[in-house]
Amino acid sequence: MDKDGLRMLVNILQQNKDVPAEVWRTLVSHSGVEERENLASMAREGAVERFGNGMYVRALIEIGSYCRNNCNYCGLRCSNRQAQRYRLAKEEILECCRRAAVLGFNTFVLQGGEDPGQSDEWLADVVAAIRAEFPTKAITLSVGERSLETYSMLRHAGANRYLLRHETADDEHYSFLHPHTMSASNRRMCVLDIKAAGFQTGTGMMIGSPGQTVEHLVQDLLFLDKVKPHMIGIGPFIPAAGTPFANEPHGSVDDTLLLISLLRLRFPKALIPATTALETLCDDGIQRAVLAGANVVMPNLTPYEMRCRYTIYDNKINSGCNSEQGLVALSTKLEEIGYHIDFSRGDY
Ligand code: SAM
Ligand code: SF4
Repeated sequence: MDKDGLRMLVNILQQNKDVPAEVWRTLVSHSGVEERENLASMAREGAVERFGNGMYVRALIEIGSYCRNNCNYCGLRCSNRQAQRYRLAKEEILECCRRAAVLGFNTFVLQGGEDPGQSDEWLADVVAAIRAEFPTKAITLSVGERSLETYSMLRHAGANRYLLRHETADDEHYSFLHPHTMSASNRRMCVLDIKAAGFQTGTGMMIGSPGQTVEHLVQDLLFLDKVKPHMIGIGPFIPAAGTPFANEPHGSVDDTLLLISLLRLRFPKALIPATTALETLCDDGIQRAVLAGANVVMPNLTPYEMRCRYTIYDNKINSGCNSEQGLVALSTKLEEIGYHIDFSRGDY
């Protein structure tokens, strides 16, 4: 593809019209090293124009590793006997929020498995307690599939944002990645329910999950176009011990970066994180994601002793920002590439 050809395709992404599947297909399957570099630089310019050189930070609190689901790729799946389980109590979660607030964070992200021991009502009570103590902070949830009523209850309790990746928009591929008790249609309905409940809504997919093809990615991009999410989380698949996909190869870092750039070009206002999975696969994963168009980092504020039990995949990086030092390290990484931490809430 020459530069003009690439620019023409990017112009189509930037129009306010549906992007034809063929355009996505060409960009995903025909972008070589040079095209990827050009796409990253266009995406980066767009992000800097809108957000400056600041990277929004969110304090990630992994509230528990129990899960009733059995996703074939995830180390927390219920049938994984190797998984170590924990569940944070309300007061422990509040303590994490307090620590995050002292460090300057303005968004708390509560993520965890679908744990019947942390019921919808319990969760709403925790959210309400955080909201009461921190009236101006943003609260993000990432706790899986719930009913529309529950999403509404959590929204009313004071949560502002909800992340639920659709994982893959292709029904057959979804069935390959999940047990028969879960369905792509329900997952997609949950994403729409989250939006209907009034949340800033995040969705996304793994890159390079077992069985994923270019056509699946094209469907993912078309799905994202339909949902128009406020946040888009994508990261490479990484195998997890004790799962059916333990011996599968991990997803490609370069493909993940390409997708970040394409998403930034298509969704200029979206909040797109540099994910831990990317950082796990390469030391400069955060920096490369930023330079490809990401604008959010989610340092881990989970109590250190628990972090090693939240093993959704192998060798998950354990670095975080429990201390001033952790933030300084992140800040140095960003400064090396001309960026800095932005502590503001960074709403959509
Ligand atoms: N249980 C909630 C859910 O499924 O939405 C939130 C926690 S779940 C661990 C968060 C995300 O982790 C999932 O949406 C999935 O995309 C990602 N994930 C799980 N296993 C993974 C793996 N082996 N490699 C990369 N990402 C993985
Ligand atoms: Fe549970 Fe989420 Fe892991 Fe699936 S991806 S097993 S729902 S924690």
